[in-house]
Amino acid sequence: MPELPEVETIIHSLRPKVLGRTIERVDVLLDKVIREPEAEQFAKHISGRTITGVERRGKHLLFNITGSLVLIVHLRMTGRLLYVAPDLPRDKYTHVVFHLDNGKELRFHDMRQFGTMDLIPADRLKNFHSLNKLGPDALDPSLTRDVFKKMLKGRTGQIKKILLDQTFITGIGNIYANEILWKARIHPERSATSLTPRDLGRLYHAMREVLKTAIDHRGTTIRDYVDGEGNPGSFQELLAVHGRENQPCPLCGNFIVRVKNGGRSAYFCPSCQK
Ligand SMILES: [Zn+2]
Repeated sequence: MPELPEVETIIHSLRPKVLGRTIERVDVLLDKVIREPEAEQFAKHISGRTITGVERRGKHLLFNITGSLVLIVHLRMTGRLLYVAPDLPRDKYTHVVFHLDNGKELRFHDMRQFGTMDLIPADRLKNFHSLNKLGPDALDPSLTRDVFKKMLKGRTGQIKKILLDQTFITGIGNIYANEILWKARIHPERSATSLTPRDLGRLYHAMREVLKTAIDHRGTTIRDYVDGEGNPGSFQELLAVHGRENQPCPLCGNFIVRVKNGGRSAYFCPSCQK
């Protein structure tokens, strides 16, 4: 699933291509991708309008559209947004095609079909159901170390589950939660209430550093993630623990352990992470 660094990379790759472009028309090939309004209205409302901004909120992509509209895209498991030439053959996983005024196409491609799109008036964005419960973005400049510590104060439960909770902080998924906790030398099943101020400081800095480094390496491609031009990322080469069960910890050489936790795999180094 694309997490914060992957969505940020997709935005970096798409922004220079689609900014200022007018959407001439839209083909909706799979209605269920469009949640709001219904598919026919969606295509009608967005046609003839221009893309004026591309932003990210957690794992959501937000396209600002003339007429004070916002297109909200969530890629979920396998969704891709691809800027392509129209003669590139479409396969059966191409579900929405935006025809741009320069002759190119922006295609939504999704094997698992969990990805979604909503087109709403910009003034509804703040209260929109899939965004209004999200916590601050993990890279939000106003999320300082002190704010982070305050937010964790009084939180109970395992620290990894809290990091994955999008209503706490948005943008972190399983891969980066595993990497952040390794860097912070904190065991994924540690209870949040047991973390010292020093642990919390290390956790905060690990979160920022891991996410920024992953963006610098254009995200992590394990199965199917690619950016808006179809290029994979390279952070998978730098993963310390995620997906590395029985391989040596880069810090101490002991073997990485995998534990199933709430349906997801926690990977960690039992000697570095306490
Ligand atoms: Zn280790």
